[in-house]
Amino acid sequence: MSENFDVVVIGGGPGGYVAAIRCAQLGLNTVCIDKQTNAKGASSLGGTCLNVGCIPSKALLDSSEQFHKLNHQFAAHGIHAQSVSIDVEKMQSRKNGIVKSLTSGIAQLFKANKVKFIHGTAKVVADHTVTVVNSDGELTDTFTAQHIILAPGSTPVELKSMPFNHNTIVDSTGALNFDRVPERIGIIGAGVIGLELGSVWNRLGADVIILEAMDKFLAAADPQVSKEAARQFKKQGLDIRLGAMVQSVKEESGKVTLTYTKGDSEHQEVVDRVIVAVGRRPATDGLLSSDCGVITDDRGFIEVDDDCRTSIENVWAVGDAVRGPMLAHKSSEEGVAVAERIAGGHGHVDFNTVPWVIYTAPEIAWVGKTEAELKEEGIEFKSGSFPFAATGRAKAMEEPIGFVKVVADKNTDRILGVHMVGPHVSELISECVLAMEFRASSEDLARTIHAHPTLSEAVHEAALAVEKRAIHKVG
Ligand code: FAD
Ligand code: AMP
Repeated sequence: MSENFDVVVIGGGPGGYVAAIRCAQLGLNTVCIDKQTNAKGASSLGGTCLNVGCIPSKALLDSSEQFHKLNHQFAAHGIHAQSVSIDVEKMQSRKNGIVKSLTSGIAQLFKANKVKFIHGTAKVVADHTVTVVNSDGELTDTFTAQHIILAPGSTPVELKSMPFNHNTIVDSTGALNFDRVPERIGIIGAGVIGLELGSVWNRLGADVIILEAMDKFLAAADPQVSKEAARQFKKQGLDIRLGAMVQSVKEESGKVTLTYTKGDSEHQEVVDRVIVAVGRRPATDGLLSSDCGVITDDRGFIEVDDDCRTSIENVWAVGDAVRGPMLAHKSSEEGVAVAERIAGGHGHVDFNTVPWVIYTAPEIAWVGKTEAELKEEGIEFKSGSFPFAATGRAKAMEEPIGFVKVVADKNTDRILGVHMVGPHVSELISECVLAMEFRASSEDLARTIHAHPTLSEAVHEAALAVEKRAIHKVG
């Protein structure tokens, strides 16, 4: 079928589907093309995030955290349980049910907003034209459009020295689908994905070794946050080895041997499963014909300016396939901003206030700059921190772990960054994002009433601590 649209969106993940809905809300005739399929081979909107990323990982993190608490934390409340066991099949079917309900929810949102959806693989060819092929490679549609939004997302990096066999050597998708708890797991990479998936299977009883090439743990985070997180992960039994560069992975009779170097010495570990979590790369293979004019860099990222404009007029690109953090909310905000720009508005994304969250226990979250970054930029700052152990709510929850740190400009007092490790900080960070978005000072936060008793009081007290006037802190 050949048809003309105001906007063709390629990719139905949080970048693409959100852009498509916003375009339709703004009165633009929009089609979204996505190739993702579920286990039954049917279309499944929502991209990496809903199908094999944010949502299934959080479902498993939640199940495994409940199990861990029942085994290790409930006794402190006087609750004793015997014969606690985990039914992995049930846990996985709960997760799959959540994914199904959310992915089909996107299809309903498309219907409600009159976004046309096409299941297939799209390619941008010359003259603002997009072709679509089905799973047999047959051409099914040709669309022309005033605007094209590229949101193809990303896929796991596969290294030549450790190819996936999708059984004993897996990527993040494989690690979300284990049908039983492996005895011993080796994870390559202590990034967000390695830590989250390592936490899931460690809590369920696996011995987990995480091998990380870098010498620093969570180098992008505030060093005090990383230190506290590392301390807590060690207590939980996660064996994180830094400066450990994995050289090869070899399977023999169902067991996998990992060979890694640490300094000058070579080491080996034998495990039942290996999760390769060494990063993600843009999913742009085959997306662009050589004559379409859209430029990618040598790693396959689509080149865009700050407003997501590619090298070709009226062709835009958002999300994991362009510069910036590979985060679902960053993709969605770019999608909304592009839709608004297409409709003649003033879309805006503040890249300085993108929140980062790691959903381990304790959770880790931050927004803005770290003290190290500010030092490097020569910006004078002051900071205040406050421990959750000094809040009544964290104690009542039996989770008095971690702290909040507020960093503000030394001269203007404007908040430049907030860093947290502790219970539910994934939720607490939003207040700080909003404060930074409104250019708040630490005094603004300090003068804001926070309900008692809540975890948010740690944010309040950290803001007070910037001027050394926290109430519930000794010293
Ligand atoms: P994607 O979600 O990757 O969507 C792209 C879609 O486009 C896919 O459906 C793909 O099949 C389709 N597509 C690609 N090429 C074509 C083509 N040529 N034709 C048709 N369709 C095409 N981020 C967070 O913010 N929070 C989290 O907690 C979080 N957890 C994660 C956990 C895991 C295990 C993983 C792997 C990722 C996680 N992420 C998380 C990252 C998040 O999933 C991505 O940042 C987000 O999905 C990117 O959105 P996107 O729309 O750019 O791309
Ligand atoms: P992220 O990009 O946040 O998902 O993290 C991936 C992590 O994997 C990074 O911290 C890398 O340093 C790490 N990494 C990449 N290759 C290797 C390797 N061969 N051995 C150990 N760690 C690795």
